[in-house]
Amino acid sequence: MNVVSTISEIRSVVKQLQLKEQKVAFVPTMGALHGGHLSLIQLAKKVADHIVVSIYVNPEQFGPAEDFGSYPRTLERDLEFCIQENVGTVFTPSDEVMYGNEEKFFRIEIDVLNEHLDGGSRPGYFQGIALVVNKLFNIVQPDVAVFGQKDYQQFQVIQEMVNEFNHDLELIMAPIERAEDGLALSSRNAYLSETEKAIAPLLFKKMQESVAEIHKGLLKPESLLSRKQKDLEAKGFKNDYFNVYSMDRLQPVSKLSKKETYILAAAAYLGKTRLIDNIIFEC
Ligand code: AMP
Repeated sequence: MNVVSTISEIRSVVKQLQLKEQKVAFVPTMGALHGGHLSLIQLAKKVADHIVVSIYVNPEQFGPAEDFGSYPRTLERDLEFCIQENVGTVFTPSDEVMYGNEEKFFRIEIDVLNEHLDGGSRPGYFQGIALVVNKLFNIVQPDVAVFGQKDYQQFQVIQEMVNEFNHDLELIMAPIERAEDGLALSSRNAYLSETEKAIAPLLFKKMQESVAEIHKGLLKPESLLSRKQKDLEAKGFKNDYFNVYSMDRLQPVSKLSKKETYILAAAAYLGKTRLIDNIIFEC
């Protein structure tokens, strides 16, 4: 497995592969790799000959009060994980490589898609993600890139960015990987105490219950969703959002239409850990 940290090295690796007609799939991550990342790598293997995983904790997507400093960094274990999964190349750029120290004159603005869910709650978050992914796509220049449904808004923002900025690659979305108890796998689950770990799966359970009620024919889910949030609060969650949104523009939907596909998305704090999850469903 190659481990490279500079732009010229990763470009040369990818270019040489593509000259040999090898298809390159790219899986961007912030490290602390887990089963969710693994499913992205496995999906990437089905569509490409060579997998590039990047490991980079992007400072631009963390707010001043967020966990950039304490975000889990487990590089040695991550490299071991990638070797075991037959990853071809790991790209581990430094902040210096990604951003340098020069004054910056450009930033990315995002309309509509950024108004709700994490975009509404975390100012600058998706601008920071769009910036780093835009740069990573230009640096790596893969044929395919794989992202998780776990961060559906991120997927949608990047899909639009690829379309509007004409990135020459295909995007693929991998389904959400969960623990046996239903909790969506996340690097941030490492922050949960034992007690919190026992409560955390309730978020997905309440989401499943909501979708089941909607499937019974409930087309105006507002009071159902607020009841579910109260249930979560009673167990110690602090809700951020828990709502149904349109799939394309990520706008809240108060009246559902039969046969349409929607996303029920939620974010909640358990102690200091922010959990997010979603379910895509047809009404
Ligand atoms: P992160 O390292 O958290 O930035 O995540 C890197 C990629 O892994 C993103 O595309 C995430 O959506 C994806 N991902 C994280 N957790 C999961 C999960 N539980 N299931 C599927 N994909 C995931």
